[in-house]
Amino acid sequence: MHHNGRMLGVIGGSGFYTFFDSDTRAVDVDTPYGPPSAPVTVGAVGGHQVAFLPRHGASHQFSAHTVPYRANMWALRKLGVRRIFAPCAVGSLKPENGPGAIVVPDQLVDRTSGRPDTYFDSGGVHVDFADPYCPALRAAVTGLPGVVDGGTMVVIQGPRFSTRAESQWFASAGFSLVNMTGYPEAVLARELEICYAAIALVTDLDAGVTVGQGVTTVEVFAEFEKNIGPFKELMREAIGRVAGDRDCAHCLPHTGVTLPVELP
Ligand SMILES: [Zn+2]
Repeated sequence: MHHNGRMLGVIGGSGFYTFFDSDTRAVDVDTPYGPPSAPVTVGAVGGHQVAFLPRHGASHQFSAHTVPYRANMWALRKLGVRRIFAPCAVGSLKPENGPGAIVVPDQLVDRTSGRPDTYFDSGGVHVDFADPYCPALRAAVTGLPGVVDGGTMVVIQGPRFSTRAESQWFASAGFSLVNMTGYPEAVLARELEICYAAIALVTDLDAGVTVGQGVTTVEVFAEFEKNIGPFKELMREAIGRVAGDRDCAHCLPHTGVTLPVELP
């Protein structure tokens, strides 16, 4: 196992439990925001140290709007993670990126509501978030064959899918992807000075770009199962491309502000 780099973080579906080379250990982490979705699983992926957190919990008990996002990011940072790949399932707003397509978004639009999305609950603090994703982590994935480079991911509150009108509105605005978990994960990473890149696996075409019934939950899970194997292979390659570096050379620090709680 290589120890020169810091541990990389992966936040994804519980399918990633089978991602590791061999033995793993489960680490319980306390945070000022309660427990994370699950104990953090630490082990080797392609010989590189990876800390994995199943976003929705070990038995998928958290829906997108109840995921303990602040605890999750804090727990990984407390373990020394400064770079996170965040694979996620998305609906596509572009017919050319159909089910099975892998897209690395470069922009985000927040349409969630009521989710705790900051560690700064007091004081006159602002966080630069013009470019929400780390360019170095993005490049590690967009350089791989077949990967779509760029696009705007709109994050909706869920658990319901979009109406046809909402979906058409998003598509006409030029957005590419719809998802329910990409926010506040990305901004919390920024506040903790963690490099972060979302890697989106398209499971369906969103309601506004299809005719007929629109998406069903069964279809989404079925499509995800079909593509999770190749998707994990791609994640494995991406990890190999960046794991030797301690940090991204030019990314840190992001915020230059001091958190109201002691940074882990
Ligand atoms: Zn970075």
